[in-house]
Amino acid sequence: MSVVKATVIGAGLAGLSAAIGLVRAGVKVRLVDAAPRAGGRCRSYYDAPLGQVIDNGNHFVFSGNQAVQRYCATIGSQAMLHGPDHATFAFHDLRDDARWTLAVNDGPLPLWMLDPKRRAPGTTLAGHLALARLALVTGGKRTIGDMVPTRGAMWERVIEPMMLAVLNCPPEQGSARLAGRFLRESFVRGGKACRTMVALPTLDAALIDPALAWLARHGVKVEFSSRLREMGFDGDRVAALDFGKGPEPVEGEAVILAVPPWVAGALVPGLTVPDRFCAIVNAHFAVPPPPGAPMITALLGAKSQWVVCHADRISVTISGADDLVDQDREALARQIWGEVTRALGLGAAPLPAWQVVKEKRATFAATPDQDARRPGTRTHWRNLLLAGDWTQTDLPATIEGALRSGETAAGQIIRRSALRVAAGQEKV
Ligand SMILES: Cc1cc2nc3c(=O)[nH]c(=O)nc-3n(C[C@H](O)[C@H](O)[C@H](O)COP(=O)(O)OP(=O)(O)OC[C@H]3O[C@@H](n4cnc5c(N)ncnc54)[C@H](O)[C@@H]3O)c2cc1C
Repeated sequence: MSVVKATVIGAGLAGLSAAIGLVRAGVKVRLVDAAPRAGGRCRSYYDAPLGQVIDNGNHFVFSGNQAVQRYCATIGSQAMLHGPDHATFAFHDLRDDARWTLAVNDGPLPLWMLDPKRRAPGTTLAGHLALARLALVTGGKRTIGDMVPTRGAMWERVIEPMMLAVLNCPPEQGSARLAGRFLRESFVRGGKACRTMVALPTLDAALIDPALAWLARHGVKVEFSSRLREMGFDGDRVAALDFGKGPEPVEGEAVILAVPPWVAGALVPGLTVPDRFCAIVNAHFAVPPPPGAPMITALLGAKSQWVVCHADRISVTISGADDLVDQDREALARQIWGEVTRALGLGAAPLPAWQVVKEKRATFAATPDQDARRPGTRTHWRNLLLAGDWTQTDLPATIEGALRSGETAAGQIIRRSALRVAAGQEKV
């Protein structure tokens, strides 16, 4: 029997997860990426103005993210995901200087909702039923705004900031189905499943480099700077891949396309993909945070949304940031730094060395209409599968979704090849 082979196009998290899944099942993998590096939208780089290696943006995962746990366990980087022992979320409303900590109890019974000291000020137990309503949504094309009141403390201090971070689009327009799925996989399972984790010291160190090292140990070296430009089709199969040097025949192997949606849409005839995206802006400041500052603080009444304290820098995330993409970077850095100094009690500390990273197409806009445009893993072509946070994972565009999509695509190849081997055939 010849060895089953697969080509994975794209070495972002979806492609890495697919490649690892395939290699673990004994499939011979070729992994290719257009960029000179892996990681795609989840990456780190040396930033000269800061004199540090930084992430393109803060990336949060939850302790209950099962695919993240599986992936990190395989590549040996579980210890690099850091978070609090319990699910606590520090908030600071700059409008009235109110500070509070949302403290979700560990177990699945939501006792924290009963205790005003564990909730956002001004919210009530009855108000929290809105979260329960959202958590029950499993389908349909309703928006969050269709499901819950979009005014008042519950909205402004809980649902809006949470769903903006999770869906990366105006929360009232966000898909209630995706919000529901997120809630069922996190808060509904209790605090144990929704501790916010950050990859330290960097995304590359925790999520990318160990994956590349694992693949190298298993004989897979990524072919970088190799952009797939065209695919040739023959009947119900992909027959050729063209990386700019002419068509290379695809013989009896499977192809996983783990590229962004706009690339997949251009390469695959007739493929419907999400076509509306939202920006995320991150500002980084090369200054150590003050002692005792929470690792993550959510800011309200400010441009800044999440202030993350790393050992040697402070990084601020702003989701749904389309209106900031064209703004002057220095003016943005100054405004955000002003908010950081207030949040962390830094007084009139001068603006340190800074960087502003604008990711224009950070994720697809997680609205019902865009969600409906997400294709599944399979395509019309028998040997072509799709992966990526934008495929239909039933989750918003997240690391968890990207990793799961890679697992699913790999799983399909493995299952199909097992069936074919059982039937006495060899090709996938
Ligand atoms: C600033 C920012 C903050 C984020 N914050 C969070 C967060 O807090 N939590 C969270 O869970 N998620 C977050 N995300 C989303 C997360 O980064 C993505 O869901 C995830 O990285 C997507 O991985 P992917 O493999 O699906 O796609 P990508 O990372 O886009 O990977 C696609 C790969 O395909 C390659 N490629 C493109 N075209 C070609 C071609 N023609 N040929 C070969 N290769 C090609 C690219 O170079 C890239 O490496 C954030 C994203 C951004 C940008």
